[in-house]
Amino acid sequence: MGFDILIIGSGVVGSALAIKTSQLGYKVAIVDSKETFPNSFRHLSVNQKSKAFFNSLNVWKKIENSAFPYEQIKVWDQEGTGFIDFNAQEANLPNLGYIIREGEIQKNLIGEFQKNNIESFWGEPLIKIDHSSGAIVCKTSKQTLQAKMIIGCDGMNSKVRELAEINFRSWSYNQTAIVTNFKTEINDNCIKQTFTSIGPLALLPIKEDESTMIWSIDDDVSYKFISMSENEFTAEVKNKFSEQIGKLEMISKRQHFPLHHLSAKTFANNGIFLVGDSAHHIHPLAGLGLNAGIGDVECLAELIKLNGLEKMKEITSSYNRKRIPINLGLAASMEAFKRGFSQKNIWVKLFRNTAFNIANKVSPLKKKFMELATEL
Ligand SMILES: Cc1cc2nc3c(=O)[nH]c(=O)nc-3n(C[C@H](O)[C@H](O)[C@H](O)COP(=O)(O)OP(=O)(O)OC[C@H]3O[C@@H](n4cnc5c(N)ncnc54)[C@H](O)[C@@H]3O)c2cc1C
Repeated sequence: MGFDILIIGSGVVGSALAIKTSQLGYKVAIVDSKETFPNSFRHLSVNQKSKAFFNSLNVWKKIENSAFPYEQIKVWDQEGTGFIDFNAQEANLPNLGYIIREGEIQKNLIGEFQKNNIESFWGEPLIKIDHSSGAIVCKTSKQTLQAKMIIGCDGMNSKVRELAEINFRSWSYNQTAIVTNFKTEINDNCIKQTFTSIGPLALLPIKEDESTMIWSIDDDVSYKFISMSENEFTAEVKNKFSEQIGKLEMISKRQHFPLHHLSAKTFANNGIFLVGDSAHHIHPLAGLGLNAGIGDVECLAELIKLNGLEKMKEITSSYNRKRIPINLGLAASMEAFKRGFSQKNIWVKLFRNTAFNIANKVSPLKKKFMELATEL
């Protein structure tokens, strides 16, 4: 079977790209190794720019039903006096973004495939890519598919990246993210993030009286927190937020994810493109990973629209030129934040508290942070 564009991986990034490119008039297919469509229970923050992109696909109205808007972000240091807050009013926006269950976004995107004539193949892991005959031929576990452009949206352990022999840099953040949901007494439409001595802890509102929690904990102590009873764990979280949240009750099982950094050395080569986590994966402390992936989707779709698939070399070089520096910059900021806050040195602590407080008072600096969170 032949297509213009073949997308490997139907996570949020791959599904959004499939819709956008089919709306440009291309014959698009998407392959996923999962037997049925993914329905992740993780909650993600979606910024204003990604919202505008979902709107351009005509799916935002459906996603919005399960999206919870947040109007404020408060960040502070447990071990000092550092504090910074951002709010929608200062940015002249109705809100700063939304917290949405990933599965709801996936369901609503995949629900649009038929209408947009996107062929989907489930339960078919990609096994081989063959370049030798001009067109690119992909072998899945069940069939052979051919396309002019192959796009790997197959996540951090990308098979496309491996088969295309694209090198990458990767290292462990030496932290594990523990994720769970709580019933909360107070959420005031605010994301609360505090830097504890063992890693950043955030509560993100998902309903009027519910929040999702993500605590990225240093690996030397993470097992202790994973194996604690629900009551002990809840008490630890409550202790870190003190009076800011009122009563807390855990309402979902704790899940945990090891945290790694990854950057592919190139994002495109020989008609094969990497988009989203297959190209770059960062620490979740600023909730920007998916938003960066949607940025890739927007950029690649725009380049395809401008050049057509015939000008593959132009698309390849422009995509690499535009997306690699943005994502490297983002990865460097996450690294600086993570390292800055894991320092036990008193002078570093003093410096970061002062820097936080200055940034909170100096509006151009604060505006820059806000742009990063809302417009990446
Ligand atoms: C704990 C945690 C919290 C996070 N919170 C946020 C947040 O608040 N905001 C935010 O923006 N980002 C957040 N992120 C990052 C975000 O989850 C990812 O950046 C995003 O989900 C990546 O999407 P993707 O579509 O690129 O990849 P994935 O969601 O990983 O999708 C990859 C797809 O490819 C398929 N696949 C894999 N291998 C193959 C193969 N060989 N053949 C066929 N199909 C294949 C898989 O089945 C899957 O469906 C968080 C990450 C973590 C770990």
